[in-house]
Order: sequence, then structure tokens, then C-alpha cells
Amino acid sequence: PVVTRFAPSPTGFLHIGGARTALFNWLYARHTGGRMLLRIEDTDKERSTEAAIAAILDGLTWLGIEWDDAPVFQSLRADRHAEVAYALLESGQAYRCYASAEELTEMREKARAEGRPPLYDRRWRDRDPSEAPEGVDPVIRIKAPLDGETVIDDHVQGRVSFANKDLDDFIIMRSDGSPTYMHAVVVDDHDMEVSHIVRGDDHLTNAARQTLIYKAMGWDVPSFAHIPLIHGPDGAKLSKRHGALGVEAYRAMGYLPEALRNYLVRLGWSHGDTEIFSTEEMIEWFDLDQIGRSPARFDFAKLENLSGHYIRSASDERLLQAIDDLLPHLEDGDAIANALTPDARTRLTHAMPGLKERAKTLLELLDAAAYVWVTRPITPDEKAGKVLDADARTHLKAIADRLSELATWTAADTESVVRAYAEETSLKLGKVAQPLRCALTGRTTSPPVFDVLETLGREESLARIRDQAA
Ligand code: GLU
Repeated sequence: PVVTRFAPSPTGFLHIGGARTALFNWLYARHTGGRMLLRIEDTDKERSTEAAIAAILDGLTWLGIEWDDAPVFQSLRADRHAEVAYALLESGQAYRCYASAEELTEMREKARAEGRPPLYDRRWRDRDPSEAPEGVDPVIRIKAPLDGETVIDDHVQGRVSFANKDLDDFIIMRSDGSPTYMHAVVVDDHDMEVSHIVRGDDHLTNAARQTLIYKAMGWDVPSFAHIPLIHGPDGAKLSKRHGALGVEAYRAMGYLPEALRNYLVRLGWSHGDTEIFSTEEMIEWFDLDQIGRSPARFDFAKLENLSGHYIRSASDERLLQAIDDLLPHLEDGDAIANALTPDARTRLTHAMPGLKERAKTLLELLDAAAYVWVTRPITPDEKAGKVLDADARTHLKAIADRLSELATWTAADTESVVRAYAEETSLKLGKVAQPLRCALTGRTTSPPVFDVLETLGREESLARIRDQAA
């Protein structure tokens, strides 16, 4: 059975690259009917924080990525990591090294001066333990084969081989008894029965080193898929400006999680020329073999387009729920939440079909929807204030009187009244409609003004118009 895992280090928020790695692991597990596990690699106690753990779990949940079983906390498994390190020592596949920090520095400098890679010179590999200096706590190093090669048959990178002599007798346990990343990952992946490791290709060389530990323990080596990292639009490493942000930031920018997820799945994976995927389609079609070998480029415009698509096709209920989810993450979210009285909510629902046609993000949608919850009297913004001059106010007075005689209040009803008034007074429709818009919304742009009238209803509309009328 397929078991994948996402193994973030909780030293920062869930960034976009990590979210994509998690998504690929999740999709592959669901595609194969397997499981995806979550392991929090919190061995670096100095840099790991509770807030980062919470943000990772929250980000995954928001994106709809569900892991199986309870998360595994790597720091709680230190005894097991030590046990395996001692087993390797026992079987002669690892050894204690007493080299001091000064010796190691000297070694590295010498190697550098001679143009060699700064590898450990194996000085304790064959030394008799009786030569151990007094009072020095040793590290434990793996006894890497001196010749031959380690081959990784990677689903994405193909067959990659590493000369064993270059892999170094790396440290598996530090002198304080704590495991290194290289060692803990192998022990955990083995114990968690992980069959497929899908992660960024910055870990490709680690895969070779980790393979040495699997082999030394006589364990099965999992399958690997090392996915190219995400690059910026210019092909350079992804920077903050280019989208290297936490998932949390995308949430606060008003993207629907389904849009971001659809965007992420296409960062490095493709299925013909399909761009829009339902969850079921992603799961059905996802496979490791269609992950591209060249780095995907981050493209904000594409994300915006997808986002607009998902907003347009979302149901009104979905959007209302997404707005409720979003508000706690916005600076002015509390104010909006308070303003969204049951009445305002009803109006918002009514306005939704018009609003969602025009918004690329939930922030744009909220901005365009502000007229439903502003309270009277509205203070027009600067541009709207200029539209509402003496002439305009006189027209507003006349229009309010006529509108108040309407028996029913649909967009079509109000439109016919306003059109008739414009004709009688020989004004262009805009000359009347624009002051009306400014009075109703306080702004010079809004959804179609007759829709606004219908959404606000007779009483509120007339009151807002009269507030600004002569
Ligand atoms: N914790 C590692 C990281 O955040 C990932 C380890 C792995 O996937 O093997 O980069």
C-alpha cells in the first residue's frame, strides 16, 4: 500500500512550496487509495514554534489537504533514533568520532586549499576505541562505503547516481545524543512505513545519504520523487516579491482555497492542457510520472484568473461562507463582521450574482459589496462628492419622489422610472444614474445601479437618495 508523508520543519509558516509538496503527497495517496501522513520535524527546538505548527496545520486544513492519523512529532522519537544509531554502531556500520571542532575546521580548510570537497577525512573510522580521548563526548558517524555508487531511481529526476566516496561519513548522532536530520528522517520514514517520498529536489543528495542508512539497517528503500522547486516569473529562485509567501498571506489576499489548490497542482504537474480541475479530477489524474523536470514558474496573473473563475462559479452560499472564514484574517474584518447584520447579510446574498461576476478575489468582492452594509447617512468619497453638485441634488429629489410611487421595486421597475425621467428632462441616462449611484453607495463605481436599488430595497434606497437630495 502507498504511504506518503509531508514532513515540514515548523520554523516558519507553511510557505507556498511546502503547500505544493503537501498537495502532491496528498493527491498521490488519494489517487492510489493509500495514506498520507504528517510528520512535524521539530527537532530544532530553538527554531521550532507552536505558532508555526498551528499555522501549518491550519494552512493544510484550509487548502482541504487532509492527512491520515495523528501528526507524528519527531522530537518525541529521540529514543528510537538513538536506538537505531546504537544498532548501527553495534553492527559496525557506524563509529564514534572524537574529532574536535578545531580539527574539523582545520580539515575543511586544508581540503579547500587543495581544491577538494570539504569532507571528513575518516580519521576515526578504523581507530581503536581505546584511543578515545578522556572527557570528550563523541559523535556517531555512518561508515559509508569507500567505493561503488548509490543510485536513486527517482520518479521525476530519473536515474541519478552518486559516488559513495563523495557521500561522506556524515554524522547520524550528535555528541549530545540528539539525532541529525539525515538520520531521524530515515528512522521515522521506515517506522511510519512510508513507501513514497515526494519532496523538493533540494533533498536529492540527501536521498543518497539516507539510502546508505536504509541499506546499513537492511531496510527497504522507499521510492523517491524529487520535485523541482518553484521559481519566480523571471526564472530566478522564488522571492517574496514573486510569491514566496505563506499560505496565510494568500488567504488574506482573498483567494479561495479551491483556486489556490488548483493553481498549485499545475505548478510542476500537468494533465494534457487541462487547467481547471475539480478535486475528483485531480485525484483521478494525478501521478508522479507527469511531474515536470524543469522548475515551475510562479505567475500571479494566472492565479488571479483562476481565482476569478472559482469566484464566478462558486455558489452564493459558498462565497458567504468563504467571506466568514476570511474576515478573522483581515485587519478591518471585525468591523465588517459587525456591520453584517442579518439585514445586510440578506442584501449581500441578493447582490452576490452581480458581485461575483466582477471580482477576481474575495477582497475585491468585499470592496464592491461595501454598499450593502454601510450605515446612513453615507459620507460620499471625494469623487462621489463632486458628482453630487447642486444640479444633481435637485434631480435626486425629483427621482426620489417618482420612485416612491412605484408599486413594486425590481431593477426593471426602477430603471423604467429613471429612464423616463432622463427622457423628460433631456438628460443622458448617465447624468441621472451617476448621482444616484453616488447617493446609494457613496462611490462613483459600483455594481449596476438598478441592481443596487433592488438589493437595498425601497425604504433604504429612498432614505439614502433623500439624504443627498436637495
Ligand atoms: N523537514 C524537511 C524540510 O522541511 C523535509 C524533510 C523531508 O521531506 O525529507 O525541508
